[in-house]
Amino acid sequence: MSASSGSNGARQQVFVLVGGTGDLAMRMLWPSLAMLDQEGFLSDNLRIISVAREDCGTEVCVDRIGNAVTSRFGEWTTPEALSRFRKRIVHVALDAAHDDWGSKLKAELGDPDTLDIVFFLSVSPSLFKPICEHIEKAGLNKAPNRVIIEKPIGRDLATSKVINDSVAHAFAEDRTFRIDHYLGKETVQNLIALRFGNMVFEPLWNSQSIDHIQITIAETVGVADRLGYYDEYGAIRDMLQNHLLQLLCLLAMEPPSALTSDALRDEKVKVLRSLKAITAENVLTNTARGQYGPGFADGHPVAGYEAEKGSPSNTETFVAIKAEIANWRWAGTPIYMRTGKCLPSRTTEIVIQFKPLPHSIFGPEAQANRLLIRLQPEEDISLTLMNKAPGLTSEGVHLQPLDLSLSLIKAFDDSKDGKPPRRRIAYERLILDALNGNNAQFVRRDEVEAAWTWVDGIIKAWHDKDMKPQKYPAGTFGPVSAFSLIERDNGRMWND
Ligand code: NAP
Repeated sequence: MSASSGSNGARQQVFVLVGGTGDLAMRMLWPSLAMLDQEGFLSDNLRIISVAREDCGTEVCVDRIGNAVTSRFGEWTTPEALSRFRKRIVHVALDAAHDDWGSKLKAELGDPDTLDIVFFLSVSPSLFKPICEHIEKAGLNKAPNRVIIEKPIGRDLATSKVINDSVAHAFAEDRTFRIDHYLGKETVQNLIALRFGNMVFEPLWNSQSIDHIQITIAETVGVADRLGYYDEYGAIRDMLQNHLLQLLCLLAMEPPSALTSDALRDEKVKVLRSLKAITAENVLTNTARGQYGPGFADGHPVAGYEAEKGSPSNTETFVAIKAEIANWRWAGTPIYMRTGKCLPSRTTEIVIQFKPLPHSIFGPEAQANRLLIRLQPEEDISLTLMNKAPGLTSEGVHLQPLDLSLSLIKAFDDSKDGKPPRRRIAYERLILDALNGNNAQFVRRDEVEAAWTWVDGIIKAWHDKDMKPQKYPAGTFGPVSAFSLIERDNGRMWND
């Protein structure tokens, strides 16, 4: 990002949270900002403006924010820090649909030439266009000001371009911060450290040594109150187009020449562009679509997606894809990705399955090595190695697998005074980066569009083949066709 943007000591920093009373703001953004403040990451003069239509007044809004922060981080907040944080906040009631939105906000903010403003648009993407227009009309879009936007960035390539164009009219690409909150997670950032901060993995990180890769994002919950949104998007648009593909990019990209935002993102976009197209010819053997039916998940009986909706639906709540990257490093190494709702466990994990030994002097006891990178529920990295089973036997040497484990919680235990270690929200890192003008962990426009291009092809192939989602009982790992994707290659998903 240009040196002119980012935290600018001469200007007063302002964080404008549009949608400051909403669900995302209360659950994630306010608690993140409060903890950044408590840990000394916010500049002393940073002001925070909450914007929404509701005219609740600053006092009521700040009380709600205080409750949101303490319900999330009560054990770790101090009254002094919370009181200082509350004083930074002002709530302004403005309707983004009204033309005077920008001028009224400007009156609240003061002279833009003295300010360094970060806008976080935590509102429906349908409001991005009018909001950016108002910001531009009021002259609040000039450098160093920048904007953070949330998913969904479109529901296909065409609609993502409309959103990106409307934001680009007001904010240059290097001042547009597209959040994928997975990129703020500690273990996801650790993927870069693991791959490029160690010599041991890189020589093995290719199709010569790696048999296949599995990436799973499993949720135990159903769609609950997000049904209206979800029914239009489904699992492929809601989770795979963004989070799963971002994880894939970090796993498969070439080493960047530097840890700069463009060097990193240039490599990620190359992965997306190298994904082999899935078409009507191969969609049946390379993808699985599922929808949860009645069952039992997350400790509760589930009526099933269509019963919850009250009408038939062609939306998938589960998707599994066998992807292939057509380049020298990865040709021949399948990547199995899956995500879904009402699955048996809440996990996000990556399995790097190494190839078996070319010749085993121990017979079939020698299992192939496996690197497991777990993001949820615990952040953990473990490498399964073969060891000699201890003790004497009459039959000679026996092997047993042992895990070399790097539990991040144990390795960096920040528990104090008997309190458990605090789990950071991914947004903390991302908001801090945006305040500092560092966009390396945000998604560039060409990445979003390359991801949509690939995903649109799959959705078109589903349509061409009239491939409807298959029912799976809530509480199971998706339809039978999902298991077949890997079983056809003589493998199995490692935790099934
Ligand atoms: P939400 O609970 O509906 O909140 C929307 C916020 O926007 C409220 O503060 C609302 O307040 C404000 N708003 C709505 N219309 C407005 C207008 N015309 N002018 C000014 N403010 C307006 O939505 P959310 O769940 O927080 O989601 C926000 C964004 O994040 C969406 O794009 C969503 O897709 C995305 N997202 C959310 C989550 C999540 O976990 N919630 C996760 C990922 C992405 P008023 O009604 O008072 O105006």
